[in-house]
Amino acid sequence: MRIILMGPPGAGKGTQAKNLVKKFKIPHISTGDMFRKAIKDKTELGSKAKEFLDAGKLVPDEITIGIVKERLSENDCSRGFLLDGFPRTVPQAKALDKIMDDWGVSLDAVINIEVSREKLLERLTGRRVCTNCGATYHVTFNPPQVEGRCDKCRAQLYQRDDDTYDTVASRLDVYREKNAHLVEYYEKKGVLININGDREISKVFSDIEKALGEKKKY
Ligand SMILES: [Zn+2]
Repeated sequence: MRIILMGPPGAGKGTQAKNLVKKFKIPHISTGDMFRKAIKDKTELGSKAKEFLDAGKLVPDEITIGIVKERLSENDCSRGFLLDGFPRTVPQAKALDKIMDDWGVSLDAVINIEVSREKLLERLTGRRVCTNCGATYHVTFNPPQVEGRCDKCRAQLYQRDDDTYDTVASRLDVYREKNAHLVEYYEKKGVLININGDREISKVFSDIEKALGEKKKY
């Protein structure tokens, strides 16, 4: 099973990735892990990528794609893989298609977890962290017993800068704008599966399983 998993921040992508790799016994390949491994192994491409990262620059596509190709060539990917965080752009998606064409394989599905902007904002801005012990809460889903106070140590809770409304909203806008082209690309190829991520985790996963099952019959 060769799958790409997409979804905005707060859509529960991490949890669904774990479920999928367990079910299909395929490796979870995230962009961050891939870069870290290539750099740690000091591969030629890894060293090149490191130069860009150290300089605070964006790693060029040809290097990123090369690292992806090397990673997907490894033995553990013989049964398939779950790609997470790659491709991010249509040119990267086309490069991935080319690699798989050369290998005579193809993608089974691109799973796109969708959650309304309103819900994502609720999920992502509700987080509160204890100033003393670091315990985390959520104003809606995991509230402390006393508002604004840590259950464990009674210290005050605060909202991290990353979790404020403006920061979250702009992160979501950037994601949506960039991802729209990818969604369109995969929709045209007929591999896109849209999943409503605005439900219980187990329900979301059973929808994914069902959609993948239907896809396989073609
Ligand atoms: Zn605390």
